[in-house]
Amino acid sequence: MNKRDYYEILGVPRDATDADIKKAYRKLALQHHPDRTNGDKGSEEKFKEINEAYSVLSNQEKRSQYDTYGHNFERMGGMGHEDIFGSTVFEDLIGDVFSDFFGGRRSSRSRKFRGKDIEAELDLTFEEAVMGADKEFTIKRTVACTQCSGTGARTGTKPSVCRACHGSGQINYRQGFLTVTKTCHACNGSGYEIIDKCKECNGTGRVLKEEKIKLHVPSGVDTDSVLRIQGKGSEGYNGGPAGDLHVVTKVKEHALFKREEQNIILDMFISYAQAVLGDTIKIPTLYGDEELKIPVGTDSGETFVLKHKGIGNPYDSRKGDQIVRVHIEVPKHISDRQKEILKEFDEITKAYGRTGSKGLFDKVKDLFQQ
Ligand SMILES: [Zn+2]
Ligand SMILES: [Zn+2]
Repeated sequence: MNKRDYYEILGVPRDATDADIKKAYRKLALQHHPDRTNGDKGSEEKFKEINEAYSVLSNQEKRSQYDTYGHNFERMGGMGHEDIFGSTVFEDLIGDVFSDFFGGRRSSRSRKFRGKDIEAELDLTFEEAVMGADKEFTIKRTVACTQCSGTGARTGTKPSVCRACHGSGQINYRQGFLTVTKTCHACNGSGYEIIDKCKECNGTGRVLKEEKIKLHVPSGVDTDSVLRIQGKGSEGYNGGPAGDLHVVTKVKEHALFKREEQNIILDMFISYAQAVLGDTIKIPTLYGDEELKIPVGTDSGETFVLKHKGIGNPYDSRKGDQIVRVHIEVPKHISDRQKEILKEFDEITKAYGRTGSKGLFDKVKDLFQQ
């Protein structure tokens, strides 16, 4: 993905104030709005880009995350998965801009709107997240009601002109010497009202529909990674484009492996004898068993690195390592024979001193006996 710098898109410096950003956005949004450029492809892309840049830079939290992580900030969980072009940002801001520009004369029913972005969670096993997987799941998305073709009116009827505003979508009323124009509340500015509602959608013109989604999950995703599927969000209004589907991955814990960014941590237990004498042990990795040499005199808690046996990254080719942390296992139940040998071992250890020379305790004792 070739993403441009959000600041560059809006043509503002990195230390631009919120007001500067808003001003730059308004200017560009007006210039590149699809309605003004007759659906020119290049302009449409540009318009999307401008909106995306603004949705991030106008939000304090997202902006600071973007400043820190760049375009990767979505992967850092910074996006919060809310709508980028959904009704919140799109209708509020564009509506704002256009009511300024067109004097609020545009009725929303004829306006092309992009559909909302929607979010779905996807459970993955540890292996699926690390290795990548082809998944199929069902989502519910809002689409135009087929019964009424999205009009909201019962089959055979049509929405009629709003009686409150006579189709203008606006109500004028006097306030002192002034005439104030407000959006008609009866029709929400659409200029239409539905008297005989479609039963399927209850007059809204839209219904929730289940849809199967097939998705290839790239290797290396983690919990709360966001995968975006274009055009699988809510359907647009009046021929506007559909929103996107944001698939948020939830990775299940593994019985053996823990994940630390791109490294895999594995806790292995070895016996005291193995720690003292050294050994070669089998280590499970995601890529099959590996042999690991435990050196003579290994301490509990020591770590060993199996290079490149960790997790890849969907954005670069670097692969993490598997880190094996060994722990000396203290048996809870032992046989009489084992006890006997251990006691004997302990006697010899004491006679030698713990490290072959005199232990600290003996040295202290010697000091007092002098
Ligand atoms: Zn309907
Ligand atoms: Zn009205």
